[in-house]
Amino acid sequence: MRYLSTRGHADRKQFCEILLEGLAPDGGLYLPEQYPVVDAVTLAAWREVYLKQGYADLAFEILSLYIDDIPADDLRVLCRKTYTAAVFGSPEIVPLKKLQDAATDAAQAGFYLQALSNGPTLAFKDMAMQLLGNLFEYELARRNEELNILGATSGDTGSAAEYAMRGKKGVRVFMTSPNGRMSPFQQAQMFSLLDENIHNIAIDGVFDDCQDIVKAVSNDLAFKRQYKIGTVNSINWARLMAQVVYYFAGYFQLPESATGGKVSFTVPSGNFGNVCAGHVARMMGLPVHQLVVATTENDVLDEFFRTGFYRVRVGADTHETSSPSMDISKASNFERFVFDLLGRDAAQTADLFGRQLSDKGFFDLSAHTAFQQAATRYGFVSGKSTHSDRLQTIRETFQRFGTVVDTHTADGVKVAREHLTPGVPMLVLETALPIKFAATIEEALGRPPERPPGFDGIEALPKRVKIMPPNVALIKAYVAEHAH
Ligand SMILES: *Cc1c(COP(=O)(O)O)cnc(C)c1O
Repeated sequence: MRYLSTRGHADRKQFCEILLEGLAPDGGLYLPEQYPVVDAVTLAAWREVYLKQGYADLAFEILSLYIDDIPADDLRVLCRKTYTAAVFGSPEIVPLKKLQDAATDAAQAGFYLQALSNGPTLAFKDMAMQLLGNLFEYELARRNEELNILGATSGDTGSAAEYAMRGKKGVRVFMTSPNGRMSPFQQAQMFSLLDENIHNIAIDGVFDDCQDIVKAVSNDLAFKRQYKIGTVNSINWARLMAQVVYYFAGYFQLPESATGGKVSFTVPSGNFGNVCAGHVARMMGLPVHQLVVATTENDVLDEFFRTGFYRVRVGADTHETSSPSMDISKASNFERFVFDLLGRDAAQTADLFGRQLSDKGFFDLSAHTAFQQAATRYGFVSGKSTHSDRLQTIRETFQRFGTVVDTHTADGVKVAREHLTPGVPMLVLETALPIKFAATIEEALGRPPERPPGFDGIEALPKRVKIMPPNVALIKAYVAEHAH
């Protein structure tokens, strides 16, 4: 399997070559030359693998279709090392929880949460990042190279990256975050890591300042080369690929999967990485009826799927909501789906995402036949959820089912209910645990969420963090001093 760029002007590469790269050199995103398609016989075999041998072996089956340049035995070891019950809290790794009462039972085939948030940082980003940590360590050792990861986070990505890379040979993490703006729990998670290869940098500024710094450093090609600067952001194909696995695992836990029935997923979405993995799973032959994109007040994606109009927001137009991990001004993985939607026309994709977005800040596919196919051929529909929807959904889900959901998952539950199809089970991806966003849970329920075992008192642990002004030269000096 080789990988191409959505903009058509990059060399085709093997998996391990794109593993350590971000964007393709032509500004596009990497995708496999074609999606491997599996038939009903293979699906049935994979179901047995998951139910009898476990998630890690299912991950190996799927990943080995995308990776030619890691020997099979090594890849299996990497999968087994990553997806363990000890790290992810249960032998299923991504168990389903049925939200069941008389009303839902009568209405349709089943309404479930798929738990993706029982990894070390209690958000779904661990599912891919834990694998990425092991892949990086493996590949860097093989090449005898080192990598300094420079990132910006408003919460979930940074901690997932740090927990995945801590103690890994050949990798250092320099993670910038806006000083004082993450939740106390998120700050405690990150800053209590005392590993030598983890560097927390709290920037006096907002998240955009952190992102600008990372961009400025990455644009200094000489510095980037000298200090082997890399990233772990959500456009990395390896992260997306790892997420494909849990769509299959969710389906295989349903009784319907034994007979080849259909399933729908609702995905709380921001940068479109998670739901794009669902699209890939569907392209591979997973019998997905619909992929429901749930957004917050920052409804760039909902607007597109309703109207065909994709309009990037400016900073002042991007709201700070109570589902902060979905607060985006543009969806960085969306180009991958649009490339497929346009029949993989790289010239047209480059025109939309290169020229039109930078010239006008929007593009309009409403009159394009491909736009109708987003729903009819690719199964995409969407909806939006606001702060008051979120509070109401958290309350109602607790009252009816005794389950407390986090704010992002609540957006998913709210939108999923608007897109139920009789006879088709609905799986809502649970993207974080409520403890990470305790203030809003308390606002909804009048009491704080439960703390999972092992997280008691983390706010009181010793912290290691360097507070710095938003100054690119100073950040570079800090990286240079510690990158050896
Ligand atoms: C990152 C994140 C999302 C958004 O996922 P995308 O892949 O960016 O669409 C949703 N919920 C939570 C809790 C997250 O951390």
